[in-house]
Amino acid sequence: MIFGGARRNPHLVARMQGHQLSIFGEMSALAVETGAINLGQGFPDTDGPLEVTEAAAQAIRDGFNQYPPDWGIPELRQAVADHQRRFYRMETTADEVMVSTGASEALGASVMALVEPGQEVVVFEPYFDLYAAVIELAGGIRKAVTLRSPDYSFDTAELEAAVGPDTRLLMLNSPHNPTGKVFNREELEVVARVAVENDLLVVTDEVYEHMTYDGNRHVPLATLPGMAGRTVTISSGGKSFGLTGWKVGWAHANEDLIRAVHTVKQHLSFTSGAPFQRAMVTALGLSDDYFVDLAKDLQAKRDLVVDGLASIGFDVYPASGTYYVTADVRPLGYEDGMEFCLDLPSRCGVVAVPNRVFYDDEEAGRSIVRFAYCKRFEVLDQAIDRLRRLSA
Ligand SMILES: *Cc1c(COP(=O)(O)O)cnc(C)c1O
Repeated sequence: MIFGGARRNPHLVARMQGHQLSIFGEMSALAVETGAINLGQGFPDTDGPLEVTEAAAQAIRDGFNQYPPDWGIPELRQAVADHQRRFYRMETTADEVMVSTGASEALGASVMALVEPGQEVVVFEPYFDLYAAVIELAGGIRKAVTLRSPDYSFDTAELEAAVGPDTRLLMLNSPHNPTGKVFNREELEVVARVAVENDLLVVTDEVYEHMTYDGNRHVPLATLPGMAGRTVTISSGGKSFGLTGWKVGWAHANEDLIRAVHTVKQHLSFTSGAPFQRAMVTALGLSDDYFVDLAKDLQAKRDLVVDGLASIGFDVYPASGTYYVTADVRPLGYEDGMEFCLDLPSRCGVVAVPNRVFYDDEEAGRSIVRFAYCKRFEVLDQAIDRLRRLSA
C-alpha cells in the first residue's frame, strides 16, 4: 500500500499523488507535537565518533568547501574500495565507486538509469518507502514478494513467479528495514540463482551492513557467483557512523553498470558534501573496535526492547540486524497497526511506525508495528516503562 491520506494535489504528476506523505515524516511530526519518545524514525540520539565529526570541522577550516568531483573525491572512492576488501574480500577498485548524496540518491539514480518505463522491478515487502516512489518515478512496475512473519522468510516459488519476461531489476535490502531480518547465505543463493537464470540486474541496499547480531554476518550479494557483473552495491555512512544528517553514500558496480548509474546521478545532485566526504574517509578507516562496539551496543539495546515488549504482551518477531524490531499488536487488543500507532502517543507518549504502509499486500502487515531502538539506554528504558500502560 502507498501511505494515503493526502488530498489530491492538482500540480503533482499522477504517479506521485500517492507518495505525498512519508510515514516517517508524519510520525516524527506527531512525536514533536505530542512530546512523545520517537521510536518511529530511525535516527540515533547521539552523535557519531568525535574523531569523524572533528575531521569534518577541520575539512571546512581547511577550505574543502567547493564542488567536489562528480564521482566523489578520490580518497573516499579509494576508502570505499578498501572497506569492501577489508570486510568482504571484494575486489572493488576506486574507479568502480561512485559517491552519492546518501544511499537514497544512489538508489534513485540506479532505478532511473536501469529501468525503462513499463519494465518490472521485483522487491521484497515490507519495503523501504523510497523504493516504491522511485520505481514509479521511473515508470517501472513494482512486483512484491512477501517476507512472512514470524521469521520473514520468503517462498522461493513466489519469488520465481514474480519474475517474468518484463522483469529488469531486483532490489534487495539486507540487513532489512523494517523487519531487522538478515538474509542468510541460503536465501541469498536463491536470489542469486533467480537473478542469473533470468538475467536480471540487482540493486542492493546495504546501509545496515555493520549492524548484525547473534553471530550473523552480512554477506554482500555481489560476492556470490555470477553476481558481481549484474549488481549495483549501495551503502552509506549515515547508519554505520550515526551521522544520518550528513548524507554521504556510495555505489559500486562493474564499469558499464556504474557509468549508467552515474549518468543519472550527475544530473540529480551532480555532487555534494565536500567536507563530509573527507570526514567519511576517516570514518571508513576506523579500527575494528569501532565496528565491534557498534554492533555490541545495538545488540544490547535490541535485547532490552525485545524483552520489554514481550513482557508487555506484544508478539515480538526475531530481528538479528538493523536497529528495528517488529511486533504484532493483536495480543494488546488491536487488529490494525495504524490505529495502534495513532493511539500510542496519547496513550503512552511513544511513537512507533505501522508496517502496513510498507506492503502491497496490506493484510500481511496489518497488525505489525516497528520500533526503532537506536536511542540511549535511558530513553529506551523510559519508553518501555511508558508502554507498560498498555498492559495495565
Ligand atoms: C536510512 C535508509 C536509507 C537511506 O540512507 P541515506 O544514506 O540516509 O540516504 C536507505 N535504505 C534504507 C533501508 C534505510 O533504512
